Amino acid sequence: MTPPFRDRLLELNPEYCTFRGLRTLQVNLGNLCNLSCSHCHMTASPDGAHIMGLHVMTRIINFLRHHEGIVLDITGGCPELNPYFTELIQQSSGLSPRRLLRSNLTIMTEPGMEWLPRYCQEQGLVIVASLPCYREKNVDAQRGRGVYDASIAALKELNRLGYGDTQELNLVYNPGGAYLPGAQEQLEEAYRGELASRHGIRFNKLYTITNVPIGRFRDELEKSDALEQYLQLLADQFNPDTAHEIMCRTLVSVDWQGHLYHCDFNQAAGLPILNSNGIPLTIEDLHHFLPGGADLFLAQHCYSCTAGAGSSCTGTLM
Ligand code: SF4
Ligand code: SF4
Repeated sequence: MTPPFRDRLLELNPEYCTFRGLRTLQVNLGNLCNLSCSHCHMTASPDGAHIMGLHVMTRIINFLRHHEGIVLDITGGCPELNPYFTELIQQSSGLSPRRLLRSNLTIMTEPGMEWLPRYCQEQGLVIVASLPCYREKNVDAQRGRGVYDASIAALKELNRLGYGDTQELNLVYNPGGAYLPGAQEQLEEAYRGELASRHGIRFNKLYTITNVPIGRFRDELEKSDALEQYLQLLADQFNPDTAHEIMCRTLVSVDWQGHLYHCDFNQAAGLPILNSNGIPLTIEDLHHFLPGGADLFLAQHCYSCTAGAGSSCTGTLM
């Protein structure tokens, strides 16, 4: 039987199960998305009804105003579809040294959204864009027909505006099934070569991210009777050298209602950070957390973060 993830970390060093200090605040604007990808851990779709309101954004801005130097990582769903997206971007201007926008790219080509690439550039946002392969067939299989072409069109426009050159544009790869990503450096080289030769596209870094067995990806694994096998693969590939770097040691995730989680995956799995009375913490409680030392809520899906070269929202851990 697979040992509890927490026990594996405790064996190595009890400190690995604790928060180290806040570097990144990841804000999930909700589960509304123009796509319905098969691997989506948030189970996002055009029907997504959890949408962060302006009042929650104001509370987040208030936190940033009082805490300098925190990276703001904006995700979803499709964050750009949140009706208050531009409010968040405008109000957070100057409050964070680095603001990341996780974009599915295709939204930049939707009718009425043509302003988006230029807006991101003017606001100095770092774009972290999903592109699970450089081959059309694989991208469309995972994300839907026409997604590859739309993504390429968006990347060309971003390049034209200086992204991949004077402004940071990073791509995200995730496997098309129940297996671990290949080596990040080699994949990056392959992406760079293929995208340049076929489309003249430039980007900065490629992040490989391991699929986490929650949300729609878990449903798919269950349907094909492959969940146990995948969980076993993750556990078998546990790499002790990645354990001290798991991203929840320095990142906190906020949901559309202002509740806190150790990461977006725990958020998708419905595992909030609780106080000693079992009440979910909110953005107003985050400052208590800042000095570090708090225990992390770890579950079996956490093996995704320590398998192979490790995985986080900014790629491998080693
Ligand atoms: S993976 Fe990203 S683009 Fe795809 S449905 Fe989920 S949030 Fe939308
Ligand atoms: S899934 Fe989240 S809580 Fe678990 S190890 Fe990874 S980052 Fe930490």
